[in-house]
Amino acid sequence: MREKHSFQDAFTRADIETPFRYVPFEVPAGARRIEVSYHYDKLGAPPDEETHGPPPDNAIDIGIFDQRGVDFLTGGFRGWSGGARSGFYVATNGATPGYIGGQIDAGQWQVIIGCPVLASDTCRYWVDVSVDIDPEARADGDVPATRGDAAPPPASTGERRWYRGDLHSHTEHSDGYNTIPEYVREAGRRGLDFLAITDHNTTSHFTEIAGLRPETVLLIPGEEVTTAWGHANVWGFDGWVDFRCTEDGGMQRILDFVHKGGGLFSPNHPKVGYPWLFSGVKGYRVVEAWQGPWRFANSESLEFWERRLTAGERVTAVGGSDCHAIAPAIDLHPWTLGDPCTWAYAPAPLTERGVLDAVRAGHVFVSEDPTGPFLELTAECDGKTYLMGDEMSAAAGSPVTLKLRYRGPAEKKLRLYRDGGLWQEAVADGEDVTLQFELPLDGPGYVRAEAAGFRGRPERGEVVHALTNPIYLRPRT
Ligand SMILES: [Zn+2]
Ligand SMILES: [Zn+2]
Repeated sequence: MREKHSFQDAFTRADIETPFRYVPFEVPAGARRIEVSYHYDKLGAPPDEETHGPPPDNAIDIGIFDQRGVDFLTGGFRGWSGGARSGFYVATNGATPGYIGGQIDAGQWQVIIGCPVLASDTCRYWVDVSVDIDPEARADGDVPATRGDAAPPPASTGERRWYRGDLHSHTEHSDGYNTIPEYVREAGRRGLDFLAITDHNTTSHFTEIAGLRPETVLLIPGEEVTTAWGHANVWGFDGWVDFRCTEDGGMQRILDFVHKGGGLFSPNHPKVGYPWLFSGVKGYRVVEAWQGPWRFANSESLEFWERRLTAGERVTAVGGSDCHAIAPAIDLHPWTLGDPCTWAYAPAPLTERGVLDAVRAGHVFVSEDPTGPFLELTAECDGKTYLMGDEMSAAAGSPVTLKLRYRGPAEKKLRLYRDGGLWQEAVADGEDVTLQFELPLDGPGYVRAEAAGFRGRPERGEVVHALTNPIYLRPRT
């Protein structure tokens, strides 16, 4: 037996401040499968003559909540595909990637409709819902927990070393083109030790990751909280994180919710494109200071991060490729898994907790790809050794020795920045060099390092090849 519902409405200019709305429908007892399809007015204008890119067009996003309701943070989320699909299904025995299958309880379910871009004065949309009912079928089990039953193991206590990874990628569970097993193979080929899969606004990939547990690469389940005012990665949080906010207050509640649940929250690519506009949100401890190729406006992201540091905050810089496709899928971006590469200093054998604890502690540097350059900043003071991310606390005036270890092409510029300004610069006179600098611990602040140089023709300017997190200086008086 099949029940069908059709809905039609429109977004207008007056609606754009409240971009989400809900289409309720009743699900009877015995429902086994819900199918939803939709379409909307598209302008379909020819490509822009100046940019050769597509002209602005309407965009309408879609997702679904079950009978548990649509409350902010605690609603009964069952999936989201943004604008990536024209339809989806949720069934007792499966679901479209991006959606969460399992038990279908009777009650009022709601399709969520979002309008991130309104290019015309009005955009009409049509939604068709069909519900398959089999009253004879036995009831299924619960909706699967997003990680399955497997809680992440605690960090191991083995010897620490540097591991290479990528903290930002998208699969078929949102708008990426590849499956998770395809990413696992590619991560192995690129030499990555860990890979976070951070699909947009959904957690449907968590169960698949929990079931895969590949030996070649540690997969970290994450979610990219994606709004029209900025994106943020969440790792280490067991469950769905809401994205339905339009101002600082809502995003602050999301961040606090993530931290309370033990997760990490990182504003992503705070630069042109999809910049981070939630400027009043406070308390995040990570920022994606480098996304994709350096020339893609990453100096803006670096400045964004450095402003946090000069304001006295302790925020770990990480990198993320934001990869959406690998061969043989169609190339969506010039962004490759592992470019840039985030290096985390973690105990063996590598665990998710080990990677995320390293990120939390700032024991991280970022290089342009998994082959490097390697760039490690350490310091010695008063008989103790400090790694980037650490706070050096010693008597004011104590002598400090900073060491910068670089492995990469010769002739690159190695720079130390202190409290936001260039402090030291040297040229690498070999492919494996350690530079040493002395300073007195004469005031609070921080020191961080970069390796930079030309790639391609010099007139295109320098790029950053690697950057470290800071060592924080805290003299005791
Ligand atoms: Zn993003
Ligand atoms: Zn992304």
